[in-house]
Order: sequence, then structure tokens, then C-alpha cells
Amino acid sequence: MLKEFSYLAPKNKTQLLKLLAEHTGKPGVGKTAKILAGGTDILVNIRNGFDKTDLLIDIKKIGEYSKLDFNKTKGLLIGANVTYIQLINNKNVKKHYPVLIETAGKVGSPQLRNRGTIIGNICTASPAADMSRSLLCLGAEVNIVSIKGSRSMKLKDFFKGVKKTALKAGEIVESITIPIDMADAKYGDEKLKRIKGHDLAQAAVSIVKKDKVLRVAISSCAIVPVLLKDFKSNVSSATVCKEALKSISPIDDIRASKDYRIHMVKTYIKRIMDKI
Ligand SMILES: Cc1cc2nc3c(=O)[nH]c(=O)nc-3n(C[C@H](O)[C@H](O)[C@H](O)COP(=O)(O)OP(=O)(O)OC[C@H]3O[C@@H](n4cnc5c(N)ncnc54)[C@H](O)[C@@H]3O)c2cc1C
Repeated sequence: MLKEFSYLAPKNKTQLLKLLAEHTGKPGVGKTAKILAGGTDILVNIRNGFDKTDLLIDIKKIGEYSKLDFNKTKGLLIGANVTYIQLINNKNVKKHYPVLIETAGKVGSPQLRNRGTIIGNICTASPAADMSRSLLCLGAEVNIVSIKGSRSMKLKDFFKGVKKTALKAGEIVESITIPIDMADAKYGDEKLKRIKGHDLAQAAVSIVKKDKVLRVAISSCAIVPVLLKDFKSNVSSATVCKEALKSISPIDDIRASKDYRIHMVKTYIKRIMDKI
């Protein structure tokens, strides 16, 4: 059964930041307030008793968080309310950052892609969060805001552990920006699942290549999604595999064995690099 919780839905950013300041990190009601975006993760966790949140602050009414803007010098901005399906249907994303569409199309089911947000995905800080790997390859920055001001950081510094992010009490991710430098890159994305339907990754790899740079990111093979160091674009797949094995630390669990994950990471790196 779903435990009882309070629900607030601010209509604009000023109201949201005030509520966040009032209800997070302080004793009393709302001590464990959290953001509600698509709700596809948090509501399941509350129902299953894994999340003890007693106040949800819904951001869906905040219009400016629905922005999905492309600019030829600044790149792409993805607001906190942008869903998978909005990303997939956007013509600028299709043209300039197709790796995002490739990854987004592999998340969950159509129902989930209609409701779940890209930023909700990275805020879950799951090692298996699918969008993390293509966003890492593209050099995404996370834009964070609280009543005290705003700050930005590289996505690779945002993940601090399983379900742990760099967010402090009262902060929210309001957008992600993707610089223009990796626009129009060649790309590949592979995700291994136990079943054909919706499932989290057992192991997954994204690679983008542009001009002289090749970037590789791996999901479900360490406590956080992993971005390897930048390679020159003429690097061999053997060198990338060697570097990948130094950077990941897969475990045996119900989804896959450590050895199978390692085998598939090597297979995917070679397969994508042969193609792009
Ligand atoms: C059946 C099923 C299948 C799934 N399949 C996949 C899959 O294939 N791949 C995958 O990666 N994930 C999968 N998921 C996990 C989840 O649905 C996705 O990660 C989704 O993108 C979460 O987004 P949301 O908007 O629904 O987040 P929510 O559930 O609203 O929020 C998730 C967490 O992020 C926080 N949060 C949300 N937005 C912000 C913000 N702007 N700032 C700060 N914190 C925020 C919330 O407080 C909460 O802790 C699946 C889940 C289910 C139930």
C-alpha cells in the first residue's frame, strides 16, 4: 500500500525554491521532502517502502522547466520536465544529438517514456540509469539551483555513489546543458537486458566520435555510470577495452555475473567501434 505523504505543486520557480528551502534539511514536517517529476521511480519506491519521503514537491506545473532548446553556439538545454518522448520527437535532437534518441528509445516501455523525465533518470543516480551514458559521452553539464543561488557541474562529478548525487539540501537540478562541441558526432549505443521487454541494463555502452576525440561511457558495471578518459579517434578497440577494464568494477547479482558483464562490455566496445 502507498504510505501517506503530503503533496505540493508550486506554479513557478520562486514558489518552488521557497518551498524547498522551507521543507528540506530541517526537522519537522517535510524533513524528507523530495522532488516529484514523472514519478516513475519515486512512487514505486514509496509504495515498496524503500523511500520514506513524507512530502513530494511536484515540479510539473513549472512551465520554464519544459524547455528543450537548441542553439547553434550554446548547444542543447534540457529542462527538468522534459520527458523521453519529447526528447525523441525533437527535430534538433534527432539531427544533432542522435545518440540521446538511441539511448532514450531503450528506456522502459512506451508508458514510461511518456511520463519519465531525462533529469529524473540522472537524479535516481542508479548505476543502470540509461541516459547517463550518452549524456556523459556528450560532456553534459548539470545546472543546479536553490534559494541561495545556482551552480553547474560536469555530469561525471554529479554521481557520488549508488543513489547518491552531489545535490545538497534544498537544491534541484533545473536543466542539463550539452555543449555544441560533440554535436553531429558519430555514435553507437548498446544495452544488454535479460528480456526483450522493459528491464534495466545488465551492461551497456555508449560511444561518440567527433573530429579527433572518441568518448566511451558504461552503465551497470560500477557503483556509478563510468566515463572513460578521452581517446584519440584513431585509438584501437583493444586499447579502449583495456582502459575500460581498469575503470569498471562489475559485480555478480541477479541481473548478470561479473564475467558476463565484462565480456559484454568488450563485445559492445568492439562492435560500436567497428561501426563508427
Ligand atoms: C517498470 C520500470 C521500468 C524502468 N525501466 C528503466 C530503464 O529501462 N532504464 C532506466 O534508466 N530507468 C528505468 N526505470 C527507472 C525510472 O523510470 C527512470 O529513471 C525515469 O527516468 C525516472 O524519471 P522520473 O521523472 O519518473 O523521476 P521521478 O520518479 O519523479 O524521480 C526520481 C528521483 O529523482 C528525483 N528528482 C527528479 N527530478 C529531479 C530534479 N529535477 N532535481 C532533483 N531531484 C529530482 C526525485 O526526487 C526522485 O528521488 C524504470 C522504472 C520502472 C518502474
